[in-house]
Amino acid sequence: FWQETASRIKDTLPEQEFNTWFNRIAYLKSEDKKVILAGASQFILDTVIARYRDLIVNTLSELTGEDINVEFAVISRSEIEQINKPEGNAKEKEEKQEPVQTQAKPKISNEKTLRMKVESNLNPSYDFGNFVIGDNSAFAYNASLAIAKNPGSSYNPCLIYGGVGLGKTHLLNSIGNFIINNTPELKVMYVTAEMFTNEFIESIGSQKTQHFKNKFRKVDVLLIDDIHFLQGKDSTQEELFHTFNNLYESKKQMVFTCDRPISELKNITDRLSSRFERGLNVDLQPPNYETRMAILKKKLIERGSSMSEEILNYIATNVCTNVRDLESSLTKLIAYSELLSQEISFDKAKELLGILPSLAANANQTLSIDTIIKVVGEYFNVSSFEIKGKKKNKSLIQPRQIAMYLSRDITEYSTTEIGTEFGGRDHTTVMHAYDRIESLMKGDEAFANTVQKLKRDLTNVKK
Ligand code: ADP
Ligand code: MG
Repeated sequence: FWQETASRIKDTLPEQEFNTWFNRIAYLKSEDKKVILAGASQFILDTVIARYRDLIVNTLSELTGEDINVEFAVISRSEIEQINKPEGNAKEKEEKQEPVQTQAKPKISNEKTLRMKVESNLNPSYDFGNFVIGDNSAFAYNASLAIAKNPGSSYNPCLIYGGVGLGKTHLLNSIGNFIINNTPELKVMYVTAEMFTNEFIESIGSQKTQHFKNKFRKVDVLLIDDIHFLQGKDSTQEELFHTFNNLYESKKQMVFTCDRPISELKNITDRLSSRFERGLNVDLQPPNYETRMAILKKKLIERGSSMSEEILNYIATNVCTNVRDLESSLTKLIAYSELLSQEISFDKAKELLGILPSLAANANQTLSIDTIIKVVGEYFNVSSFEIKGKKKNKSLIQPRQIAMYLSRDITEYSTTEIGTEFGGRDHTTVMHAYDRIESLMKGDEAFANTVQKLKRDLTNVKK
């Protein structure tokens, strides 16, 4: 019936428009009044959802006489093509004919991989092949690949940490996809810490905790994304702690990601954080200019698009924050030129990118710790020299701690880096200052306002 739906939609749209979008999505499956469609990238899906979701839902509902829901999933381009291949539709014909092994086999294995992907929650569009390696990511990449080749025996557990948009989720999925493609007998499970938490809470509500426990303890490879989400969630931490011990004892591979080093997490029980730290901890840093260029070029090829070197250079020079921002800059320009069916000019590109939030975020990120020290010092009438110095006068301690607090709050610098800027202090001093200011702000509204005002002033300062 998807065939029928598609052909009805085809009648209502200009042919070219239909071909542009509907050949890029595929029918995956349907289950209780829900149809799952797939596309090769989030970009494609977002566009299809924005423009055609209602049309699809209405046509489906009309056709079936039921209220049908549509959901979308990302799968790889080759899988989309495989599903949409004209022969692929002739499933019944194929079954009735005498079994031709050579034809039937790849089809079955394709379905099997699809099923495994759905069960393991993996996003098939992330793999090692489309991850661009730079100095910033080589260590994390190599560790991930080693784990994927030898799950359970090399680095277990492994923690990949780094800021937003630097490729943690990409690497985690690459590990899982590599394993299900090369060692299909292993059961892989990918979840975000948020999904883990929600499922756990739900299982308590519906008295299915045993089911929950079994589900996570019977896997061979457990991949949990964004464990910083567990901060302050005590009973989920407790559950994960037991899951961890269970899997660890049976030498099952675990990989976690986190947006910061474990030592900087707050409200995590010591016994759980010591588990996370037990194995290999690798970090992802922002890519340098050369890597940013390489990433842009790779993404362009993937999307079958092109762009002048001048524009690419402009993006790579200005978008320094992370890969996600690089991608969204590119997406924006590609979408623009696709919609207008014309190559984009350098001036137009600059204009479009000028309003990207990432560029504003970028301005914040380059806010230096020295500037923070200077602005806070001016406010309290003490010199930068005194703030960085060793003196422990009461009149110095608080401005110093506020400056440390703001450095950690506003910038992406690690507490170690911040400590260094503050006259070579230890990172624990910075963490202590942060906690101290935070708790003072909670108890004292006037004080909190002062800190907030300084924060506002600083985030308005450009460099
Ligand atoms: P994180 O999980 O660290 O926030 P993601 O893994 O979601 O970041 O990455 C953000 C986007 O950038 C994704 O689309 C991902 O494919 C892409 N990306 C990140 N790092 C790389 C890389 N080294 N090479 C290619 N694409 C990357
Ligand atoms: Mg992520």
